[in-house]
Amino acid sequence: MAVWRGVIARYGDRMAIRGTDRPVTLNEGGTPLIPAPRLARALGLGCELHLKYEGLNPTGSFKDRGMTAAVTDALAGGARAVICASTGNTAASAAAYAARAGMECVVLVPDGKIAMGKLAGAVAYGARVVAIDGSFDRALEMVREASDRAPVVLVNSLNEARIEGQKTAAWEIVEALGAVPDWLALPVGNAGNITAYWRGFREHHEATGQGLPRILGAQAQGAAPIVFGRRVEHPETRATAIRIGNPARWSQALEALEQSRGEILAVTDDEIFDAYRLAAATEGVFCEPSSAAGLAGLRKAVRLGRIDLEGRTVAAVLTGHGLKDPSSALDCDLRIEKVPAETEALLDLMQGAPA
Ligand SMILES: *Cc1c(COP(=O)(O)O)cnc(C)c1O
Repeated sequence: MAVWRGVIARYGDRMAIRGTDRPVTLNEGGTPLIPAPRLARALGLGCELHLKYEGLNPTGSFKDRGMTAAVTDALAGGARAVICASTGNTAASAAAYAARAGMECVVLVPDGKIAMGKLAGAVAYGARVVAIDGSFDRALEMVREASDRAPVVLVNSLNEARIEGQKTAAWEIVEALGAVPDWLALPVGNAGNITAYWRGFREHHEATGQGLPRILGAQAQGAAPIVFGRRVEHPETRATAIRIGNPARWSQALEALEQSRGEILAVTDDEIFDAYRLAAATEGVFCEPSSAAGLAGLRKAVRLGRIDLEGRTVAAVLTGHGLKDPSSALDCDLRIEKVPAETEALLDLMQGAPA
C-alpha cells in the first residue's frame, strides 16, 4: 500500500463531510488487527479472536478517526474554534486536531474523573481545559448550549462528521480479515462508536452484498442506561471513559443492536479489570480499562449461554491505549519486587516464585 496518510486520504470519497481535499490529519487510522488466540482461551471464548488496537492512533484512542473528520469539516465551514465535553480521550483528540488546524479548543471535563494521560494530552496540545463539579452528561448539556449561542463548533459524537470518520474502522477490520467478522464487540459509553461501526458495516453490506456482523456492546454495571433501559443519574465506574448515564446516541445504539441481532450487557468493574489485565498479560496488548469492557462482555455472554462463539470470528475493539491511565495498571497489579544491588540476590530471587 502507498504511504498511510490518514482516514480521509484513504476513505474520504466515502465520507459525507466537507473539506476532504484539505484534511486536517495526524495520519490516524490504519491500526493493527491483532490475532489473540491466548486471550481467547483465557477468556473461554472458543472463537477466533482479533483485537482492533485503536490505542495506536496518534493521541491514543479511536476518537482521532472522528476528530480528523470533525475538524476538517469545521475548518472547511470557516470555523475558528471547537468545543467538547469529555471523559478524557475526546478532549485530547480535539485539542490535538485543533492545534493542527490552528483553531482554538475548549474542553469541559468532569472534575477529578479524568485519567492522567488524557488530561496531560489536552494540556500539552494547548486546549483550554475547564473542569466542572458535575458529570459528563451535564458537561455535554453545557457545551451543546454553548455551541448554540457562540461561534464554536461542537465536536462531540453528536457531530455527524465524527460518525463519518469513525465508521472507517469497520472497513479496516473487513480489509484485514478479508471478510466480515461474525461478531464485533465494543464498550458503549455515549454510543457514538457503536453507531459508527454499524454505519460502516451497513455501507459495506450495501456496496458489496457481503453479510453483517452481530454487535455485542458492553456497559459498566454502574453506568448501564442502555442495558437497564433508564437514565443513570449518578453513573459510577472505574472505567472512566464509559462513565456516562444518558448516552447521546442511545436510540441509534438500540437500532444497531436490533438490526444486527446483537446483545448488550452490563459488566462489573472487577470483570472489566480482569479482562484488562488478561489482554496485556496474555497477548502483550495494553489497553485502558474501559477498552476491555467488550472483552468482559464477550466472556460473560458466553458464560451465561447468551451467545455461542464456537468456531466464530470475533473482532473486539480496544478503544484506547493503556498508557493513558497508568494509575489503573499500578493500582491493580503493583508487583514490584526489591533486592539488594547484587547479582547473587537477583539470581536467588529468580529461583523463587514471584511475590
Ligand atoms: C469514548 C470512549 C469509549 C466510548 O465510546 P462511545 O462512542 O462514547 O460509546 C470507550 N472507550 C474509550 C477508551 C473511549 O475513549
